[in-house]
Amino acid sequence: MLKPLSEYEILAEQAHGHLCAGQILGLRMALFGVKLLGIEDPAGADRKRLVTYIEIDRCATDAIPIVTGCRLGKRALKFRDFGKVAATFCDLREGRAVRLLARDDAKRRARELYPQIANKNEQQMKAYRELTDTELFDTQWVRVTVGPEDLPGYKGPSVRCAECGEGINFKREILVDGRVLCRACAGERYYQPL
Ligand SMILES: [Zn+2]
Ligand SMILES: [Zn+2]
Repeated sequence: MLKPLSEYEILAEQAHGHLCAGQILGLRMALFGVKLLGIEDPAGADRKRLVTYIEIDRCATDAIPIVTGCRLGKRALKFRDFGKVAATFCDLREGRAVRLLARDDAKRRARELYPQIANKNEQQMKAYRELTDTELFDTQWVRVTVGPEDLPGYKGPSVRCAECGEGINFKREILVDGRVLCRACAGERYYQPL
């Protein structure tokens, strides 16, 4: 079952290493997302219903799994590096999804609400606990097609890259001129072998 925000804050602080405005924002975002989808026990009974896409790797990112239970290692948290404070919550059972974007003016709202608090993080933490869901987030209902190879629990053969010989799971291989290549050998390598 969902807990009060204050209880999630304790868990988020433990997981993230400190409590910050980004944590509050991430918790609020996840709570709003599951509320819109009508998912009452995301980390428990409903844990197989939810997949979350997150579009930034920042403080708020760490807070989202605290509420949703969606973790990278469980394949229920998907990172798309778009540099936006946004996340999409997908209800696999009902086949619907909602994308939430943190509003640009939330920081300004925090300044207006608590001008007497000089510390920006303190100011924003307090405001982000109190602003309404719609003051904090823009809501967009979207369609997300989650392929079977992207679902938690997918079982399939791994294949071997014709270039480097490394194993590739979850159909991440790319066919180039009839050869099965890993994404690194196909040109997406982010590292240079020394
Ligand atoms: Zn932080
Ligand atoms: Zn390769």
